[in-house]
Formats: sequence, C-alpha cells, structure tokens
Amino acid sequence: MSYCAAVAAVRLSSLTKVFDGVAAVDDVSLDIADHDFMILLGPSGCGKSTLLRMIAGLEDPTSGDVAIGDVRVNDIEPKQRDVAMVFQSYALYPHKTVQANIEFPLKVRGVSKTERAEQARQAAATLGLTEYLDRKPGQLSGGQRQRVALARAIVRRPAVFCMDEPLSNLDAKLRGETRAELVALHARLASTFVYVTHDQVEAMTMGTHVAVMSRGRLEQVGTPQEVYARPASVFVAQFIGTPPMNVLPVGVVIDRPVLVGIRPEHLELDPTSQVRTTVTLVEHLGHETLVHARVGETPVVVRLDAIEDAPSVGDDVGLSFPERHLHLFDPATSRRVDA
Ligand code: ATP
Repeated sequence: MSYCAAVAAVRLSSLTKVFDGVAAVDDVSLDIADHDFMILLGPSGCGKSTLLRMIAGLEDPTSGDVAIGDVRVNDIEPKQRDVAMVFQSYALYPHKTVQANIEFPLKVRGVSKTERAEQARQAAATLGLTEYLDRKPGQLSGGQRQRVALARAIVRRPAVFCMDEPLSNLDAKLRGETRAELVALHARLASTFVYVTHDQVEAMTMGTHVAVMSRGRLEQVGTPQEVYARPASVFVAQFIGTPPMNVLPVGVVIDRPVLVGIRPEHLELDPTSQVRTTVTLVEHLGHETLVHARVGETPVVVRLDAIEDAPSVGDDVGLSFPERHLHLFDPATSRRVDA
C-alpha cells in the first residue's frame, strides 16, 4: 500500500500578520524541511495557529511570503495548495458514515466511486478504522473521530499536513496513544507535518523539530533535545520542562551580571552548602518528589528520584548548583549567553 505524498518543504520568509493594529505573527522566517515533523509550540495567543493558517492559506499574510516546495503560494487558494488541515474540532459530517466522511475530499475532486472506496478503505486500514466504516461520527469515541479526520486528510495525499491541536479533546490516555500513532503515521507517509500545540509533551515526543513562539515571534528552533538542553532564552527555558527551569537573579549563584538557570533535576540538596533555605512544600508524585523552597524572593524546585530521602516542610536545607548544569542568561535581553 502506498500513501507516499508529493513531499514538499515549507519556507516562511519574514511572515507577519497584523490584526487590528497588533502583530499576531511578527516577522517569522522558518524553514521546514521535506519529511519534517515541525511543532509550532507556545502559550495561548502566541500566534501559532495564525502562522499555521497562513501556511494552509486560510489567512492572508499582511507581509512576507509562504513557499511550498519552490512555489510562492501567497496568492494560491487553500484548495490548490496541496495542504490538508486537521483541526481540534474534528469537523466531520455527522449524517455521513465514516466511509463517506473519508471519501468526501475525493468526491469533491471528481474521483470515481470505486477508486474513492478503495482509497478510503486503505486510509481506514492505516488508522485502524476498518471496522467502523459504516458508523456515523456520533457512534465513535473522540479518538476514533480524530482518526477519521486524519484519514480524510490522508486520502487527499497532500504534500503538507497542517494540524491544529488535534489531540486536545482527548483524555490523557488516548492522547498518549494517539501521539504514538501520529509518529508512526508520519514515518509511514513520509510527508511534511506542521503541528500546532501548547503541550510541551507533544512537542518533545513527536517533533523532529520544535519552533518555540512567544508573542508572535520565534524564540528558538531546534530538535526537542536542543531546546531542552540549550534553551536560547529564559522564556524557552521556563516553557519547556516540568517543573520549569529555576532562574535566579543576578548575583545569587554567580558573582557576574547574569541570570542563572538550573533545571529542578540538576539542583541538589546538599547539607554542606552555604546557600541555606527552608522547605515550603513537598510533593510526592510517586515516581519523583518535588521539594519547593525559596532563594531570597525567588521560588525554586528541586526534583528528587522517588527513592531519595525527601526533607519535610519547614526543614532547613542547603542547595548546591553543579556548574556543568548551569544556564546563563543576559538580564537585559533574557537571551542565553555562553559561559
Ligand atoms: P491558542 O493556543 O489560544 O489558539 P495561538 O497561539 O494559536 O493561541 P492565535 O490564534 O494565532 O494564537 O492568535 C494570536 C493572536 O491573534 C491572539 O492575540 C488573537 O486574539 C489574535 N487573533 C487571532 N485571530 C484573529 C482575528 N481573526 N481577528 C483579530 N485577532 C485575531
């Protein structure tokens, strides 16, 4: 079975979208390679959906260019762009069967009935939907409905799949399973995926690259490991990682004009340390324990393995900051500075 789409890279050049005088997307340039699984990650309102919608052609840029393959597509209608969009709300036709829903884009294109049925059957098999082809969407679970929406995107054989928070209506267990299915689907289709989420776990587990956005701008683009291990700014350091990276004011850890960041798993309880603090909260999460305290006015979290002895609320503890795990940021710009 072959669902190999005509694969294409996506290039965004100085892309800007202004709504009511405010830039929702502000001068974003981003290269998304063929076959990439690019995650657009950021908090609510950072402009990631608007960016995705400009790739799909559902929103016109105020300035800048969108290219798919070698073609500038700014003036090309969404239908002609060879892009399929999958939304959070599955947008299925409730009165049509699963089969008819999956076939619909092919019907619109005038594909013959036999050919449509065959392609829908193959897409359904790819997504484990074969036994549900005769059901209506109302008779399916949320996860199954989302898979129908994906199958409907697959039959179009687009060069680029654009997905806007497709898993956010699913419960935690189903989300985990569907994440794995999407990774497998991406490998099988060998297409370019552009995927919007505010969920860092989705970004870390599915993306081949992650573009972190804040206030309409790109903060950092890299592999999930790069953005975790070498965050380019305080924003990225604190957006990726649970709990977020501890960032301490100038002078607390190092006697230089830098902000010092350290991840909770790297901060150590150390009875011999001269940096003393009082434990304010202890969270036993089973597989790990989070110890909360304050350094001056700044809250900090230490993550312990479940097997380590945890202190109690009110205990006086020392903290040590292993140098190899420190991240340094410029206090004026909040950008990373190398040691
Ligand atoms: P969310 O995760 O909440 O969907 P997002 O990061 O996808 O957020 P966008 O939907 O791209 O963010 O919105 C970015 C900004 O642009 C927001 O401030 C939003 O209010 C504004 N915005 C989006 N669409 C429009 C519109 N059609 N008209 C006016 N403002 C808009």
